[in-house]
Amino acid sequence: MHTEPDVSVEAEVAMQLLEGLRAQLGGRVAQVKGVEVEVGEAHSLDPARVQVALTLLLPEVDVRVNVVAVLWKCSDCGAEFPADEHPCPVCGSVRVTMVRGDELGITRAWA
Ligand SMILES: [Zn+2]
Repeated sequence: MHTEPDVSVEAEVAMQLLEGLRAQLGGRVAQVKGVEVEVGEAHSLDPARVQVALTLLLPEVDVRVNVVAVLWKCSDCGAEFPADEHPCPVCGSVRVTMVRGDELGITRAWA
C-alpha cells in the first residue's frame, strides 16, 4: 500500500502559517480560539490537508480555510476572467497578470 510522507507540503505550509501567527501575536497565540486562512488556488495545495495540518499544530483552535479562485486580468484590454479561460476570452491576449489566487496566509485570528 502507498503511504503518505509524514511531512507533506501542507504540513510545511501550516508550520509557516503558525510561525507567522506567532510573529504577529507573540504569547497571545495561546489565547487564539479561531483562525481564518486564505489559500489561493495558484499554490495547488489541498485546502482540506492545510486545515488538518494546522489543526494538528493548534488542536484547540477552530481553523477555517477559504480557497481563493485564480482570477486573471488582461494586460491589453483589462478584462478579468477565471484561470480556465486563459488566454483572454475577450481579445485573445496572453499578456495577463494574476489579480487573485496567490494568497497564502492567515487573514483573521480571534480569541
Ligand atoms: Zn484581453
